[in-house]
Amino acid sequence: MGQIAYIGVGTNLGDRQENFRRAIAEVRGIADTKVVSQSSLYESEPHGRARNWFVNGVIGVETTLEAKDLLKALQKIEKTMGRKRETEKKSVSRVIDLDILFFGDQVINSRTLKIPHPELVNRKFVLLPLSELAPAFHHPVLGTSVSSLTVSTQDPTKVMLFRG
Ligand code: ADP
Ligand code: MG
Repeated sequence: MGQIAYIGVGTNLGDRQENFRRAIAEVRGIADTKVVSQSSLYESEPHGRARNWFVNGVIGVETTLEAKDLLKALQKIEKTMGRKRETEKKSVSRVIDLDILFFGDQVINSRTLKIPHPELVNRKFVLLPLSELAPAFHHPVLGTSVSSLTVSTQDPTKVMLFRG
């Protein structure tokens, strides 16, 4: 028995549905890690300095890895899928972005890894898919359920179900 972790997936370059499909296939290949749930896909308005609409979703995994090793594995997938860290700076377009949202009820605040993901409460494109998979899960710092966070988010950006 491992930890249940939720991973936010985002892509706004190329064939976004195919990028999403491939990312899940790659996550299935991570050692000691099983994909146990998968949200619907959403389409969300560009944010930050990005110009293209994103496709977003969340996947649930069960893993016996430590959080930092799961992060390493996800970063390796980002790299394999052609993400260029130098040119795809924060908040810009990217072929794939894999963020750890929750890792069980662990709270981590290192320089390279922050869990729960600090931005998740501000992002409807994360909360909507996450609330499909874990509506009753309580944010380990705020003590609030994912469904309450989703209802009360102030994020004004447009997020809708993706219809291919
Ligand atoms: P963002 O996802 O914020 O748009 P990046 O994907 O480029 O930007 O990530 C920047 C850095 O965020 C990564 O190098 C990683 O070390 C750090 N990071 C901190 N916490 C997390 C987390 N929970 N999940 C993924 N990356 C994280
Ligand atoms: Mg990221």
